Amino acid sequence: MEKLQTHKMTVSVDKHSSHLEQFKEFYKELDDQGKTIEKLPHEEIEEYQLQAINATLEHVWNHNEYYHARLEEAGFTEPKIDSLEQLASVPMLVKDLIRGDKEKILCVAPKEIGQVHLTSGTSGKPIYTSYTLADQYVYDLLPKYLQLFKESDDDVAAIALPYEFALPGLGFQRLFQFAFGTAVLSLGKGGYMAPVDKSLELMKEYQATVLTTTPSYAALLAEESEKYGIKIGEDIQLKKIWLTGEGCSSTFRERLEKWWGCEVSFFYGSTECGVIGVECSKHQGYHVMEGHVKLEIIDPVSKEVLPYGRTGEIVVTTLLREGMPMVRYRTGDLGKLQKSKCNCGIKMDVLELRGRMEHMLRIGTEDYSPFMIEHFLMEIPDVGLWYHLKLNQGVLTIEAEKFRTNLSDEQLVEKIQNHMKNRIGIDCKVVIRDDIPRTFGKATRVFN
Ligand SMILES: [Zn+2]
Repeated sequence: MEKLQTHKMTVSVDKHSSHLEQFKEFYKELDDQGKTIEKLPHEEIEEYQLQAINATLEHVWNHNEYYHARLEEAGFTEPKIDSLEQLASVPMLVKDLIRGDKEKILCVAPKEIGQVHLTSGTSGKPIYTSYTLADQYVYDLLPKYLQLFKESDDDVAAIALPYEFALPGLGFQRLFQFAFGTAVLSLGKGGYMAPVDKSLELMKEYQATVLTTTPSYAALLAEESEKYGIKIGEDIQLKKIWLTGEGCSSTFRERLEKWWGCEVSFFYGSTECGVIGVECSKHQGYHVMEGHVKLEIIDPVSKEVLPYGRTGEIVVTTLLREGMPMVRYRTGDLGKLQKSKCNCGIKMDVLELRGRMEHMLRIGTEDYSPFMIEHFLMEIPDVGLWYHLKLNQGVLTIEAEKFRTNLSDEQLVEKIQNHMKNRIGIDCKVVIRDDIPRTFGKATRVFN
């Protein structure tokens, strides 16, 4: 029996309609012409975004007291902007306001909620994000990015991300199953039902071709496979790894590519906003998922919107949300936007991600992104993928492990110190350890 063309599968939610119905037509026309939003001229993408923002503003104005009041305070007499630049006049939403509050920005009746996701709440109370079923199975899947995602029904995708509370596990599961018809192995991250050895065994048994996980867990799985006698490249032959959840440097990514023998790409998203950016095969930054989100970069102090090329805080407006739209949501992540000149042909803007504001390390009188330090540390092949950065009164101590090297501890300490001095001019202390804890959760690498 011939298999259904599952990437053309549409899900309908009975008797359901919302302010987003108009975009079904937009995406259907693209589909019919064999196009995706990725390669549309940027003016056309911007026209779509303006229309989607106005539909969202009208929705939140009509269905949420908080958003309505804030828009009125800002001088709006109707929920409408005339250009994307005018988005700057819409009030911003900050994390602290919605932390621990389930209904502040909820825009549907509670009985319409199909799924609740929570942030891990590592820095305070969790943020609750409510999705309607239509959000999850209809609207979220409208934009297709077939240039960026090559997965199909020939693939088997292992998802080693948290399934409890947070969005990533279930989000990828829906994406693979409903957008590409890909079979999914829901591994989670070392939970009761799927310890590491069983997860690797399952990937082997079902010939997984795709792995989606965090950088640290990709390292952990590779490391553990050696213990369990599972040969990467023979028993498990991946063609693609998607990394998400934690940032990491390009050199860390390249080391994972070597170890796993396949292309590794970053996927940037959050539990509140969903997908934000995806790396193309050129690895020159993230293409912004402009079907799903409108991004702005602001100066975190003056809150002014910055032009292309300037680094600042990333502000996200979701375009296809019914349950809980995020309007000008301050993410706390740093980055800069460029117009796409990428020779992959994708026209969606390119985002360079710089990590989180509160994670910057002040060494001497300069601020350094931990990924930048990781980048230079990972250039040293004798250093393993597990490390700690500890900052004490402006002095950096790097705790590192050895990786397949004959160097003595003393020689490696000297090598790291010289390398960091020569490459970024940092004087640091180095401690070689062999017991840096492995983690199933988010890897903690920075101690500030
Ligand atoms: Zn590209």
